[in-house]
Amino acid sequence: MRQPPGEESGLCRESGLTLLMDQSRPGRVGASLPELDVPPQELPPDDLLRRDLPLPEVSEPEVVRYFTRLSQMNFSVDTNFYPLGSCTMKYNPKWHDDVAAMPGMADIHPLQPEETVQGSLELMYRLQRYICEIAGLAESSLSTLAGAQGELAGVLMMRAYHLDRGDRQRKVILIPDSAHGTNPASAAMGGFSVVSIPSTAQGDMDLEALSSAASPEVAGLMITLPSTLGLFDRHIREICQIVHRCGGLVYGDGANMNALLGKVTLGALGFDIVHLNLHKTFSTPHGGGGPGAGPVCVAQHLAQFLPAPVVEEFRSTDERCYRFATPEQSIGLAGAFHGNFGVLLRAYCYIRSMGKAGLRQASEDAVLNANYLLSRLRDVYHLPYDRRCMHEVVFSARNQKAGGVRALDIAKRLLDFGIHPPTMYFPLTVEEALMIEPTETESKETLDYFIDVMRQVAKEAQEKPEVLKLAPHHTPVSRLDEAKAARQPDLRWRNRKG
Ligand SMILES: *Cc1c(COP(=O)(O)O)cnc(C)c1O
Repeated sequence: MRQPPGEESGLCRESGLTLLMDQSRPGRVGASLPELDVPPQELPPDDLLRRDLPLPEVSEPEVVRYFTRLSQMNFSVDTNFYPLGSCTMKYNPKWHDDVAAMPGMADIHPLQPEETVQGSLELMYRLQRYICEIAGLAESSLSTLAGAQGELAGVLMMRAYHLDRGDRQRKVILIPDSAHGTNPASAAMGGFSVVSIPSTAQGDMDLEALSSAASPEVAGLMITLPSTLGLFDRHIREICQIVHRCGGLVYGDGANMNALLGKVTLGALGFDIVHLNLHKTFSTPHGGGGPGAGPVCVAQHLAQFLPAPVVEEFRSTDERCYRFATPEQSIGLAGAFHGNFGVLLRAYCYIRSMGKAGLRQASEDAVLNANYLLSRLRDVYHLPYDRRCMHEVVFSARNQKAGGVRALDIAKRLLDFGIHPPTMYFPLTVEEALMIEPTETESKETLDYFIDVMRQVAKEAQEKPEVLKLAPHHTPVSRLDEAKAARQPDLRWRNRKG
């Protein structure tokens, strides 16, 4: 196993970066400007000019090294194993970025006449069809810009659907207690109150609790499948039936579609509305807030409510043409224009290059990888739901907590071994949760390395917990006061001398 560099080697301190400003030497320049070949211009009035502009005076190699090293201080999918559960941090093929950067794709404008962008519209139309096929639903809109916005659109469609039927008393949305935080937030933003449905000890939804909550006040249920516990709810058909029987709709948070591609469609199980996270499952580099795409797919009885615009196909003198359209009773525009085209494009590339069999294989491998971790780590980390998982596995650091080590300490220690921490303390229903999603793009060697590290960390938790409490030891900065870093970020260099 690769060892983290020894503390005594001082590597930690050496990797600290000398700020560019502190490298500054008077008169040193990093660029040579050509001779002036235009008439010199007057400077702006004196009171607009700064007397002193403390910019670093450095050479070009110093600048290049500074920014290159700065970029290497980050964890990224391109540099490190990144098993951040629920986020599907898989490797994204670089040629998707090349396609997105092609002038015909990157330089078009949303206000350009539609006849000049027929190719892009056709691509969006085809993508709408593909994601409908993947979700097993009738129609879709690509305009929503993130998973959470897809959820909000879904909730507003539920509202529009019930109001359209004169069904005004439906003010409640049911959400399982393991749900992603965006679900109750979206329901509340849509004007609904939320009733939480507990899970059973096996990690499925409690059917009795669901049945007693299912009333004529219920607008619908929002549920993630597989759940955020990484489990496929074994009663999912029954759950959909219970909700439908009381007149509600079933919303599927499809952010976890990485487990199900080509295996099962949510539509066939009884879902009415589903959003997909294209930036997760369908291969767009993401993190740090975007860009994303969370298109929504709906069953036929909800198609007229879809967010605008949608792309439709029509015939003009025997030729297939494409245009933006607004569904009849649309909930409205989801954003300024038609969605994040660059993300849609990458998803299209991914779906076309993988093909049906490839997508299916990706999900099978994602599930296999997660179960491999489950079976190799279950003797050292507590497994709250002892059954086969889907694309991610949720452990608990409960055993380690007894000895004073928390999930946070384990996560921090992983950084010393070049591994991005898993998702922690989520789902909220699992004590000291460590939610691990290896994805299908990792090799067995990487998974074995992770297993070795996790086992060593568990051993350290028993034998020398102080190593974990103070971790990370080998990163450019060690443990931060995260509350302070968020509330009083220190982002700007200040000239402390003057
Ligand atoms: C990521 C995620 C979301 C939210 O998606 P964003 O694109 O970040 O808004 C919702 N639900 C689940 C289960 C997720 O994993």
